[in-house]
Amino acid sequence: QAKVAGKNCHRSYNRAMDHAVERRVHMEHELRGAWERGELRLVYQPIYRTSDRQMVGVEVLLRWQHPALGAIPPSVFIEVAEQSGLIEVIGPKVLRAACLDAIQWPMPPGAVPLFVSVNVSPRQLRSGEMADTVARCLRESGLPPSRLHLELTETAVIGDEMLAASLLDKLHRMGVKVWLDDFGTGFSGLSHLRQVPVDGVKIDKSFVADLQRDPDDLALTTAIIAMAHSLGITVVAEGIEHEVQYQLLRDRKCDLGQGYWFSRPVSSMDLVRMLGGMA
Ligand code: C2E
Ligand code: MG
Ligand code: MG
Ligand code: MG
Repeated sequence: QAKVAGKNCHRSYNRAMDHAVERRVHMEHELRGAWERGELRLVYQPIYRTSDRQMVGVEVLLRWQHPALGAIPPSVFIEVAEQSGLIEVIGPKVLRAACLDAIQWPMPPGAVPLFVSVNVSPRQLRSGEMADTVARCLRESGLPPSRLHLELTETAVIGDEMLAASLLDKLHRMGVKVWLDDFGTGFSGLSHLRQVPVDGVKIDKSFVADLQRDPDDLALTTAIIAMAHSLGITVVAEGIEHEVQYQLLRDRKCDLGQGYWFSRPVSSMDLVRMLGGMA
């Protein structure tokens, strides 16, 4: 009896595995033509200066609306794109489209033109084509390099410090800024800042989420801000959902902030409206 149950269990486990693999293969297949079918679109989440709440830039975030599967979160499909190598096709399209959008945005009243910050995945970093892709997108769009920022994750940089450092060098010579995304989650941030001289760090939203309740999170965030400033680099906090989080970060001189409390990600058209321009 037990043997039969065990066997059944084994079989259903295999079936569950097959199902997961099947789903993944299906998703990869669907993702392949998603851009051409117009299922992928870019949204922009505003980034604000904490001192005066002036919008200074935006982060591009990719969205996938599949006709049958519905809205698939980036945490799921970016992973599929990364594993399959599709990100090397999609990533440059996102970068190009973002540059072409950005050049259309009006200036915020009494401010400098917005920067646009683009996420770069580990695979894109390793492809060796990143610098050429950036140069091409800047040329084709006419976007000034100072208005483009790239976000690399700590995990992308780990183990590939030489590659990351040489890419950073090329980007800096072009005039493009680089930020380290999800900072603090890689558990090794400090040593990487020595080898990979980024222009800023984005404090991961997991630190911000409990800032007002967890003294350890507040202490770590305060330390990250101090450390970044002593290195002369910018600090951005992501995932600000409550005013009290904003106030804590502003009082600790965190330079920039982003989160639902300020604004959700919006379409390029809605961004233009927010800036008070003509859509
Ligand atoms: P990320 O780069 O750290 O982006 C920030 C994420 O936090 C976004 O999730 C954003 O919508 C979300 N967020 C913003 N404000 C808040 C807030 O106040 N509270 C909470 N809980 N979340 C907030 P999203 O859009 O789901 O993207 C998830 C991740 O997927 C991104 O994390 C990024 O790593 C990746 N991703 C998204 N678009 C792209 C892309 O075009 N290329 C690449 N390589 N990765 C992308
Ligand atoms: Mg990011
Ligand atoms: Mg992040
Ligand atoms: Mg993330």
